[in-house]
Amino acid sequence: MPKHSPSHLDPRSPLVLDTRELPRRPGALRTVKRVVPAPSDLGVELISVPEGADLDLDLRLESVSEGVLVSGRVSGPVRGECGRCLREINESVAVTIQELYAYENSTTDVTTEEDEVGRMQGDLIDLEPALRDAVVLTLPTNPRCREDCPGLCPECGVHWDELPADHSHQQIDPRWAGLSQLTRKEE
Ligand SMILES: [Zn+2]
Ligand SMILES: [Zn+2]
Repeated sequence: MPKHSPSHLDPRSPLVLDTRELPRRPGALRTVKRVVPAPSDLGVELISVPEGADLDLDLRLESVSEGVLVSGRVSGPVRGECGRCLREINESVAVTIQELYAYENSTTDVTTEEDEVGRMQGDLIDLEPALRDAVVLTLPTNPRCREDCPGLCPECGVHWDELPADHSHQQIDPRWAGLSQLTRKEE
């Protein structure tokens, strides 16, 4: 009985790696350098790679006895919002990938759990889950526009950067309040 259902991966999908060109001989190498559009929801709540943005794949595929080891770097732009002041954040992220994808029905495939080692589907590798994990682990859950962002004045909502150092919302001195009433009466 085959352990796997037929591959549902589309070899033309940007994050599917096709290893047909890679000989199944330990030590054989291929590099994959390409720019692909980012999938949706690549990131965390406040910061993520915009869907369709250019993701730079710079990967090395190496045949090992039980499968293919994929290692390298993926980088791309990230956009988000500062958790303190809500300013827009435009940065970039680079993640390191190192993941073994076992050949179907190899010893590794048969003896490991699904979540321990990646699985090949025929000659194809779905890079997306590993990429998602790496990006989510790298991006901050509480992003800042800069390390020491002071945030917003809780009273008026203006960024502390744009307020004078002595900015405050203390109640007006009652004597001055009286004076302003006088001025109003005169008008
Ligand atoms: Zn900020
Ligand atoms: Zn204020």
